[in-house]
Amino acid sequence: MTNFEPSLRLHLDGEALVSNWRALDARSGPARAGAAVKANGYGLGAREVVTHLRDAGCRDFFVAHWGEAETIADLVPPSWISVLNGIAQADIAAVQALGAIPVLNSPEQVANWRNAGGGRCHVMLDSGINRLGLALDQASILADLDIDILLSHLASADEDVLQNARQLEIFADARAHIRAQRSSLANSAGIMLGADYHFDLTRPGLSLYGGIARAEMAEWIKPVVSLSARLLQVRDLPAGAMVGYNATHVCREETRMGTISLGYADGYLRAFSGKGRAWVDGLELPVIGRVSMDLVTLNLNAAPELREGDWVNVEYDLVTAAALTGLSQYELLTGLGTRFARIWR
Ligand SMILES: *Cc1c(COP(=O)(O)O)cnc(C)c1O
Repeated sequence: MTNFEPSLRLHLDGEALVSNWRALDARSGPARAGAAVKANGYGLGAREVVTHLRDAGCRDFFVAHWGEAETIADLVPPSWISVLNGIAQADIAAVQALGAIPVLNSPEQVANWRNAGGGRCHVMLDSGINRLGLALDQASILADLDIDILLSHLASADEDVLQNARQLEIFADARAHIRAQRSSLANSAGIMLGADYHFDLTRPGLSLYGGIARAEMAEWIKPVVSLSARLLQVRDLPAGAMVGYNATHVCREETRMGTISLGYADGYLRAFSGKGRAWVDGLELPVIGRVSMDLVTLNLNAAPELREGDWVNVEYDLVTAAALTGLSQYELLTGLGTRFARIWR
């Protein structure tokens, strides 16, 4: 908390977040939708995200780190929290005290969990992403474990490729050999691959937050995040003036320019240099020159009445920004920094 007026705002639409979760839950058929809330709720703020989704009826929350589980453990029963990155031997006592459920990924983790007295756990089966998880031929070490969710993760659900069906087949095979209460395969994009991929629980992340995981979702996923920044200074530059580090922009004409309180330290990366835009009342304000750590320079010729202290809306439509910068929608969200005033409505 700070006593100062923030100069950078992240506007977060709680109704849109809940609407996206409900839509993904409905499209999961009889399966329930959980929520991936790792990386601080994909940059939005995990506590607010969990509170909204809990109140909407979500019961399964996925994080990557134990510290992330701790951050939300007073908001939901700890057993609703699953920790994807597994357990280190040194953490097992703290894990059991917290009560969130570990996703066991390796034979070592299975052995350590069993030796520590076991208890309810989840198990990640690697069906082909080759990242984390047990191979199908290691299933025998799971006998007698109290497994709630058997999970696997799709590598290419955002594409129509054979790998999806292959992973589905391996997962279905695993279910026949591993006894678990529930099964879960699909992320946001995986939900769109059809009922065969839904099992008991789906695990959307990106699309909860307005990301368009597959093109066909664009019609019903609502944007959740928008950005605005304050003009710190406005000035008039003559033709020929050079703007920003390394003078990558030279004014072709007399230019009214403004500098806003936003930079790559906030997640607005240098990839937006000379490509990003801000808007005021439908008027386009192109980013000129290089994005710096704390500052972005805009051409204000379209809106010369703007003054120091005014706010502009920084374009952050995820699909547009991803196409413009080459960053993924995931990077655009999870990179959002700590200096924003996060304003929920
Ligand atoms: C991050 C993650 C998800 C969510 O994926 P999205 O593509 O953001 O929907 C689901 N499952 C696992 C294992 C993950 O790591």
